[in-house]
Amino acid sequence: MTEKKTSGEIRKDPVSESWVIIAQERANRPLTTAINNRPQGQQFCPFCEGYESETLPEITALRTPGMKANGPGWSVRVVPNRYPALDTELALELYRSGIYCSIAARGAHEVIIEGAAHTRSVTELPSGMFTEVIKIYRERLASLSRLPHLRSGVLIKNVGLAAGASIEHSHSQLIATPIIPMRLQNELKTARAYYRKQRRCIWCDVLAEERRIHSRMVFEGDEIVAVCPYSPRFPFETWLMPKRHHSFFEATSDSCLVELATALHAVVWAIETILNNPPYNYVIHSAPFKSKNCSYYHWRIEILPRVTRAAGFEQATGLFINPTPPEHSAAQLREHLSGL
Ligand SMILES: [Zn+2]
Ligand SMILES: [Zn+2]
Repeated sequence: MTEKKTSGEIRKDPVSESWVIIAQERANRPLTTAINNRPQGQQFCPFCEGYESETLPEITALRTPGMKANGPGWSVRVVPNRYPALDTELALELYRSGIYCSIAARGAHEVIIEGAAHTRSVTELPSGMFTEVIKIYRERLASLSRLPHLRSGVLIKNVGLAAGASIEHSHSQLIATPIIPMRLQNELKTARAYYRKQRRCIWCDVLAEERRIHSRMVFEGDEIVAVCPYSPRFPFETWLMPKRHHSFFEATSDSCLVELATALHAVVWAIETILNNPPYNYVIHSAPFKSKNCSYYHWRIEILPRVTRAAGFEQATGLFINPTPPEHSAAQLREHLSGL
């Protein structure tokens, strides 16, 4: 253990025990340049086909056979983030300074570019193509889960400046960390305690309850359920989960992924229709990498429309104020999806 002098570290708050990534590289991000501008004529987008040299060399891509890496002829491309929050090259080290401790920011930060043509939201992609995108999410998460020293991965999508997007072209990010983030730690603790007592997964029980009550149900297929959660932080927050117990998104079957892509596409479309194309995030939560027994953790996707601002009160307390009851959101979403 040594004292850390440079940037690129994950610091632990000694009281709350939550972690913060200190990433100076991120300060160089172009936050205002490409946003909200489609590349008409000379307007520039680094994620559009033909501008491959503007990204770092690709990790993988879905390409037309015979087309060379890092050139045109692709439909989905995965590249390292140019301004990474975490770095695969760092050695895993622990640093101590008095009562403080941190670890090197070793991890992965990848960008999944969803489509060679310029689109803002996944709903502009053909649904068959969106299935390929979701399969890439699975493939990359599986690949990162096998790397030593990485303990958890989360996939995030930011659409719109208010949701944190710095580039408009539809893309997602995969971030894998050498620690388990606080929110996941808290969920694991609660879910483990529930499982010890009840011998059942808490999310399986939530789904059973939601199917029984029905008022917050949005969609039910053979393998996927969409529901507005009982205590949502945001208006129209919607969760998609496998009906049967599965802990690891990276181990999802092809048939489940196909249904997931269709359902996710449809629910985001319904939210965009009702809320007039709001900024939004979606996030895939999956069990920590290499967990052996995960009878108590159930993967899910959260769709988080950003029509309310998390302000000082939410920052201060972690208590969100949501003006829209989930029963109202779910009823409207069901109505919009019924015609499909
Ligand atoms: Zn573009
Ligand atoms: Zn479950």
